[in-house]
Amino acid sequence: MTSKEKGILIVLSGPSGVGKGTVCKALRGCAPDLVYSVSATTRVPREGEVDGVNYFFKTREQFKKLIDTDQILEWAEYVGNYYGTPRQFVEETLNSGKDIILEIEVQGALQVKQKFPQGVFIFLLPPSLDELESRIVGRGTESEESIRSRMSVAMDEFRLMDYYDYAIVNDKVENACSRIQSIIVAEHCRKDRV
Ligand code: 5GP
Repeated sequence: MTSKEKGILIVLSGPSGVGKGTVCKALRGCAPDLVYSVSATTRVPREGEVDGVNYFFKTREQFKKLIDTDQILEWAEYVGNYYGTPRQFVEETLNSGKDIILEIEVQGALQVKQKFPQGVFIFLLPPSLDELESRIVGRGTESEESIRSRMSVAMDEFRLMDYYDYAIVNDKVENACSRIQSIIVAEHCRKDRV
C-alpha cells in the first residue's frame, strides 16, 4: 500500500485534430479534481489563446534553455515547433496525491512512458480519417501546408498506438469524456495501486 497517496499520471494522446483539446476542456467540467498540465511551446498563439492558460508561449531560445536546465519532462518538435511538458508541476501534483492529465502528441507520450511506466496512456481516435481532416480544416487556423503535415504526422502516429493502454474513439465529446472517467476510476481500483 505504498503508492496510494500518489496521484495517477494520465496521458491523452493521438493525432492533431482528433479533439484532444476539446475533450480535455469538457473533462474540466465533469472531472474537476483532475489537474491539467499546461505545456510550453514555441508555436505562435492562436486567436484567443492566453499565455499560461493554453500554453506557456516561448521563443526557441527560451525553450532550449528549459530543456538544458532539465525543466522539461518530455518534448517534441511537431510541424516545425517545439512542445514540452514542464516537469516540476507534474511531479508536485503527483506527490500531492492528485491525478494529472497531459494532452500531448505521440513522440512525447513515448518519452513519458519511459519515465513513468506506471502512467495510464490513452490514445484518442477519430471516427475516420476523413473526419480527422475535416476537423483540422474546420478549425480554420491552419495553412494548406500545415494541414498536409498534420495529416502525414497523424498516419505515423497511428502506427504507435500499440504502446498505449487504452484506445477510445472520439465520436462524441461527452462519450469520450465518460470513457476517460471510467478508465480513471478503474485505474484507481487496480490491485497494484491499492
Ligand atoms: P497545437 O499546435 O494544435 O496546439 O498542438 C499540436 C500538437 O502538439 C498536438 O498534438 C498537441 O497535443 C501536442 N502537444 C501539446 N503540448 C504538448 C507537449 O507538452 N508535449 C508534446 N510532446 N506535445 C504537445
